[in-house]
Amino acid sequence: MPDKPFNFIEEIVESDLETNKYEGRVHTRFPPEPNGYLHIGHAKSICLNFGIAEKYEGMCNLRFDDTNPLKEGEEFVESIKKDVRWLGFDWKDRLYFASDYFEQMYKHAVQLIKKGKAYVDDLSPEEIRDHRGTLTESGKESPYRNRTVEENLELFERMRKGEFEEGSKTLRAKIDMAHPNLNMRDPVMYRIIKKPHYRQGEKWYIYPTYDWAHCLEDSIELITHSLCTLEFADHRILYEWFLDQLGIYKPQQIEFGRLNLKYTVLSKRKLTILVQKGIVSGWDDPRMPTIAGLRRRGYTPEAIRDFVERTGVSRTDSVVEYSLLEHCIREDLNKRANRVMAVLDPVKLIIDNYPDDKVEWLDAENNPEDPNAGTRKIPFCKELFIERDDFMENPPKKFFRLALGREVRLKHAYYVTCTDVVKDENDNITEIHCVYDPESKGGWTKDGRKVKGTLHWVSARHCITAEVRLYEHLFIKENPDEDEGFLENLNPNSMVVLNSCKVEPSLKEAKIGDKFQFLRKGYFCVDKDTTEGHLVFNRIVTLKDTWAKLAKKIKQNG
Ligand code: ATP
Ligand code: MG
Repeated sequence: MPDKPFNFIEEIVESDLETNKYEGRVHTRFPPEPNGYLHIGHAKSICLNFGIAEKYEGMCNLRFDDTNPLKEGEEFVESIKKDVRWLGFDWKDRLYFASDYFEQMYKHAVQLIKKGKAYVDDLSPEEIRDHRGTLTESGKESPYRNRTVEENLELFERMRKGEFEEGSKTLRAKIDMAHPNLNMRDPVMYRIIKKPHYRQGEKWYIYPTYDWAHCLEDSIELITHSLCTLEFADHRILYEWFLDQLGIYKPQQIEFGRLNLKYTVLSKRKLTILVQKGIVSGWDDPRMPTIAGLRRRGYTPEAIRDFVERTGVSRTDSVVEYSLLEHCIREDLNKRANRVMAVLDPVKLIIDNYPDDKVEWLDAENNPEDPNAGTRKIPFCKELFIERDDFMENPPKKFFRLALGREVRLKHAYYVTCTDVVKDENDNITEIHCVYDPESKGGWTKDGRKVKGTLHWVSARHCITAEVRLYEHLFIKENPDEDEGFLENLNPNSMVVLNSCKVEPSLKEAKIGDKFQFLRKGYFCVDKDTTEGHLVFNRIVTLKDTWAKLAKKIKQNG
């Protein structure tokens, strides 16, 4: 097999190894803020960081970037650890918390003040914003900018001790209020926040900003290649300034394009709103683009890693077709999910010439794609259930399923011909009557006659009633942020619950997380809401591969 070409990050690493830039070290990190659950975009960053480390026999840290006490918490830390592990990555003993570096960050801030490179400012957050200037206009210097080092040291220490009100003071870097890059116009390094931190408790009244903290974290951990998304490209100059001023180790920052997915949002802020407003049942709602949601829905780590791989690494943001993600899970489950029969919208089918009490246990193959999957026995008897829409009273020409006088094959069983239907007072069909050909056992006729339709079915006497949840995209628009904003674009049909589905009795043994292909209906996963005697399935994905079609069309059109 030809080697895959390097992506641009691998090219950089390759060349750094050649020049021995970091003495041959490759050390990356995945730095989530524990203020929400991980989503499919994070999966990209995880695969990239852990992937590069793996490929070059380097190391990858899991570092919680927990520098803001307002929204962070232990629940998120635990969920993130679980998700990274589940995706198949191992940080070994390299689990770090940025909050553990608070003391060191404070010392570095004092170091900058002593150099005359940082000052305590009394401007309010609004005033700081007003002084900042624009891309075309330079900013205005704060009247507090030229405080003496002694005064700054004293005030900063008192900030730490909690002597001032929130919002009354900040510590700012003293760089250049006329700098063309706005990030260099005396950025705030510390603000007063009088809230306890989930790990540090009430130890701190001041907290570092992202810009100040993040570059220090990478430096402290001796990261070689600091991979981040594009929006931080404009901040790189500031990070380098900080580290140069302090004279400490400087990693190399490399920016890559964010992953976005059509028909969903991938911002923790917005996902939090969905959870808090109760629009979804939680972070692991099977409609959520979170790792927890995808896992509960029935996605596998293999499918997610395959998806991330196929989206590639680029220097621009991308919006990926949702159908590609669906394609990846189909490819994976096609190989390993057993085929079973389940009727989602049941109607009774009665075989008039089949003996009343007879039961036959028929052989059914579990997975034609997997030679080791074996077979199972499924019960067949006089009364069955089939899908309501597999019968039509006035069928159009291309309808090859059941209709009066038509013959079809029942999967793994017999040929049946429809003779009659029974309706209730509202004209709804309640029974479909058929006769079967006893010579067609296994689905093959002696005389070699063929039919175009093969239906799935379950035995009415043996089947289990189950709840099945069907999902569509959470949003009706490709770009949910369009127009009125994402909450206006919610899809009212994103979940449809079917309460009286009939599934074959072999599923009695199914456990939470087990995945199956329901013949002709898609891939399904046993949901965590399942209890003794009440089976709940999530539809992971239908069988119709719209991505494969799209890819074919694109290929044809050159
Ligand atoms: P969000 O925008 O969802 O709030 P974030 O970037 O604020 O995400 P972090 O916890 O800081 O969330 O993210 C951890 C890492 O994951 C960062 O390095 C970030 O660049 C990366 N990341 C987040 N979202 C994406 C995405 N959509 N595509 C690729 N990488 C991402
Ligand atoms: Mg972030």
